[in-house]
Amino acid sequence: MAAEPELPTFISQDEPFRWEGITELAYNQNPGSPFSQVTRRILYDREHGLGVQVRYFEVAPGGWSTLEHHGHPHEVIPIRGRGGVLVQDAIHHVAPHDLIYVPSWAWHQLRAEGDEPFGFICIVTVERDRPVLPTPEEIEAIKASDPEVAEFIRY
Ligand code: MN
Repeated sequence: MAAEPELPTFISQDEPFRWEGITELAYNQNPGSPFSQVTRRILYDREHGLGVQVRYFEVAPGGWSTLEHHGHPHEVIPIRGRGGVLVQDAIHHVAPHDLIYVPSWAWHQLRAEGDEPFGFICIVTVERDRPVLPTPEEIEAIKASDPEVAEFIRY
């Protein structure tokens, strides 16, 4: 079997938050998932000894990621702009270099705040389950958990 090509040991930025040879992708691989103005870049893709995939997502001003949950956790590190992050029943207002952990099956959604794009690194396991969207009943339950959460979520 042919060996996979070696990962480059260094990738430079072409410009801030853009990396040489790394292309912008559609945000969502799951048809029908609602979101607004989010792009995705895969920084480290295939299995390379760590068992994780490292992605960079960018949410344009006014944009939001899909409200979802799943069995695999996320580690999220904002690196650009400011954002609001729902994790289960709490909203965190985050800035570059804050740290966010999304536990297994926690509802989550990320929104840009302010006039700048909100960009964040998101680390996931290579082997992972597919995101699950909330049912209408679950949306009502999420909204009922807290008025701030009810105001925050988009779907
Ligand atoms: Mn997710």
